[in-house]
Amino acid sequence: MENDTIVAPATAPGESAIAVVRLSGPEALPIASKRFRGRRSPERSESHRILFGSFLDPNDRPLDQVLVSVFRAPRSYTGEDLVEISSHGGSVVPRAILDSLIAAGARPARPGEFTERAYRNGKLDLAQAEAVAALVRARSERASRAAESALGGALSRRVLELDRVLVPLLAEVEARIDFPADVDEAWDGLALAARCAEIAAPLREWLARLPESRRREEGLRVALVGRPNVGKSSLLNALVGFERAIVSELPGTTRDTVEESIWLEGVELRLCDAAGVREPVDRLERLGLERATDAARRADLAVLVLDRSDPREEEDRAALALVGDRPLLVAWNKSDLAERGSAGAGVGAPRGQVLAEVSTVAVRPGGAEPLRDALRASLSRLSSGIPGDELPTTSARQEALLRGAVEALDRAEAGLRADASYDLIAVDLTDARRALGEIVGRGVDQDVIASIFSQFCIGK
Ligand code: GDP
Repeated sequence: MENDTIVAPATAPGESAIAVVRLSGPEALPIASKRFRGRRSPERSESHRILFGSFLDPNDRPLDQVLVSVFRAPRSYTGEDLVEISSHGGSVVPRAILDSLIAAGARPARPGEFTERAYRNGKLDLAQAEAVAALVRARSERASRAAESALGGALSRRVLELDRVLVPLLAEVEARIDFPADVDEAWDGLALAARCAEIAAPLREWLARLPESRRREEGLRVALVGRPNVGKSSLLNALVGFERAIVSELPGTTRDTVEESIWLEGVELRLCDAAGVREPVDRLERLGLERATDAARRADLAVLVLDRSDPREEEDRAALALVGDRPLLVAWNKSDLAERGSAGAGVGAPRGQVLAEVSTVAVRPGGAEPLRDALRASLSRLSSGIPGDELPTTSARQEALLRGAVEALDRAEAGLRADASYDLIAVDLTDARRALGEIVGRGVDQDVIASIFSQFCIGK
């Protein structure tokens, strides 16, 4: 492991009230002290103190007034001596502070290098380190809570708990290889097989809940479908609260799909305004229609937008066909105009499929609120059947390992039932343990670790 001192911005570039630059490694305190002028230097400060002073450029000219937080090893994020310099934000000052620290002997950090050091110093296990990345990426409260739970060790605890019950089972099997005469007869092959199944059951349940849990974290896809000019873009704009989609009075102008997010009850809804459904007149429109079809197919929920002032059953039914059997909200838009259509008639969607029908006026302030309320009410319907406790965030790597553990347990169970040799069963159980161990980083290849951290952003 490299043992030099690394530096990187810890906050995103751009205009902001403050920006933080982070410095970690054996020389962090002397390097920071070279550039800082205050009542006490970082080198002479106790751990967990904040110092006020000026930060200097390499020519000892003051750059900004800063707060310097001092964390001494091992009581820091990385486990090394660590200094965080909080300056004013913007693109100039933080950059100059960074350059000044590099000139004083620090090296620019690679992506994820701070967290990698924390991992190598035993501050976090691998599952927790991955949770840091998930927490930074989280786009909804729910995703952030799930990542926090993994960061707090919930994922590691679950995994280690399962591993702990595997150990005595493996010991029983190994005893049958080494001392066949001395083993407890009560534990015959069938009893051991049942034990394998018992251990695999919670893992299987966990895996079964992952897609739903991931969907909740990543947000629900909502597709707005309907023929051209019924007001899909206007509704999307009204929901999102600013002009995102180009609203046009010409039919067929929303050629591409537009995606915007709103957050309801901590869940992200990714709204997609699909192109209007009608016979495409040119290649571009055909492309738009293909995208709309694709968006509707991938959606968790569809909103069928109808024009109350001008219902056209045939075309509306074509839009409905895109939706397939997705749960559906029907929005009767342009309710302000003369009512020719009648709410409730719908376009023949099966009753079970329609969660709600609402009347909207997309162009009037507050006129889209009935749709927002219906979306909110649909949330519980869409993510029902999930017990209250959230699963900790699980990365694709961790999921593959969980699956590997279940498969190895299944093989062991089948082998025990078929009276296979205990040597083979021991191999399967060892495989299951290895897979669980790798989730928290036990015996993980260096290359795998490097690739995990390379997905982080700089400064993490
Ligand atoms: P899209 O093609 O389905 O996306 O429809 P647009 O959102 O582009 O709207 C088409 C036209 O209908 C625009 O001129 C909108 O201003 C108008 N429009 C949309 N919603 C309403 C509404 O509720 N009432 C009225 N009167 N006009 C609307």
